[in-house]
Amino acid sequence: MKRKLRMGMVGGGKDAFIGAVHRIAAFMDGKIELVCGAFSIDPEISRQSAEELFVAPDRLYANYEEMIAKEAQLPEGERMDFLTIVTPNFLHFGPAKLALENGFDVVVEKPMTVTLDEAKELKAIVEKTGRTLCLTHTYSGYPMVKQAKAMVKDGHFGKIRKIVVEYPQGWLSRLSEREGNAGAAWRADPKKSGLSLVMGDIGTHAAHLAEYVSGLKITELCADLSTLVEGRLLDDDGSVLLRFDNGAKGVLMASQISAGEENAVRIRIYGEKGGVEWANEDPNNLIIKMLDQPRQLYRTGNAYTAPYTLSSFATHNTRIPAGHPEGLLEAFANIYRNFAATTSAKREGRTPSPEELDFPSVDDGVRGMAFVQNVVTSNASNEKWTKFDV
Ligand code: NAD
Repeated sequence: MKRKLRMGMVGGGKDAFIGAVHRIAAFMDGKIELVCGAFSIDPEISRQSAEELFVAPDRLYANYEEMIAKEAQLPEGERMDFLTIVTPNFLHFGPAKLALENGFDVVVEKPMTVTLDEAKELKAIVEKTGRTLCLTHTYSGYPMVKQAKAMVKDGHFGKIRKIVVEYPQGWLSRLSEREGNAGAAWRADPKKSGLSLVMGDIGTHAAHLAEYVSGLKITELCADLSTLVEGRLLDDDGSVLLRFDNGAKGVLMASQISAGEENAVRIRIYGEKGGVEWANEDPNNLIIKMLDQPRQLYRTGNAYTAPYTLSSFATHNTRIPAGHPEGLLEAFANIYRNFAATTSAKREGRTPSPEELDFPSVDDGVRGMAFVQNVVTSNASNEKWTKFDV
């Protein structure tokens, strides 16, 4: 591409949490610019946000419907190339569908939708239009997560037998939704959040990480969901037993009442010969534990020699020399960079490389919504073990 990709945003105004992270990530490589938006449910906040972000007044729109309709009428050299959707969950499907149908690519937050049917509909639209949808499962953007995936794929650990993935947070240990926390309020509202609070909000990250790193698919699950804070309308804690398509067994824990925890995402995968461990709060480290050997510590950005060479997927997603920490913003930026490279390649008629194609897609979004649906079904059933229907 001889120019920057032009991004529009729905949500992500001054009143939002993750919108600013998206902008930092999108701009990190200098290949994307923000040209338009409908940034907030509050028109004045949306206007102020546009002003602070230097979005031209005539590219600030009252809502996403107006934005998509008007952008679609602009000449090719001006209109946005893709729409980033960073609104509460129930406002993902509408803008994503409309954007795709009007010729725009989409970056959308997880969970992709609030129902599995909506997710499947988005997949059908992506297939029909040939557009690209990128889902921001942040943790899959880290270089050491990609290294873990590559080592599992190479058979370093032998056949995978056990996957333990956990995402404890403590920020919903109180009834924050009744204490003026807007982010907690919509998350705890079944109409805006979806079937499950904890599984939609963070369980989908954990399930994606388990399938992404292991390369396996969940085939059956057995779930126990709880609402441990009195007065809350949705669940805030969940434990799930997993069975994978190669016979491996797994455990997934997602909890928002783990008081004192921040974002303690952690995954451990064990095969016949050894295992691997990665944790979000120490993301430049990858711990390798082989049977009958001392532990090894792989670190982001090192030029290790064979047989310890870091994979092309890890190095492609590393920006600075070893010893300088890379974190969530860089992982997020990796997702944007790969998405931008893929959509640019498509525009140029070039086939994207496997490294460029390595970002979560509409298929991951469908599996995420199937995960939530199946967990809720299992939790409500007496038989408990539930086939992973998609
Ligand atoms: P938030 O409540 O902080 O912000 C939501 C934003 O959407 C606000 O600016 C709000 O005004 C705006 N909005 C609401 N309705 C709108 C409408 N009709 N038109 C335009 N704007 C509207 O929420 P958040 O924490 O930023 O979460 C947003 C999404 O991002 C959620 O789906 C959440 O699950 C996801 N998220 C993902 C990660 C991650 O790690 N990938 C982290 C946090 C949040």
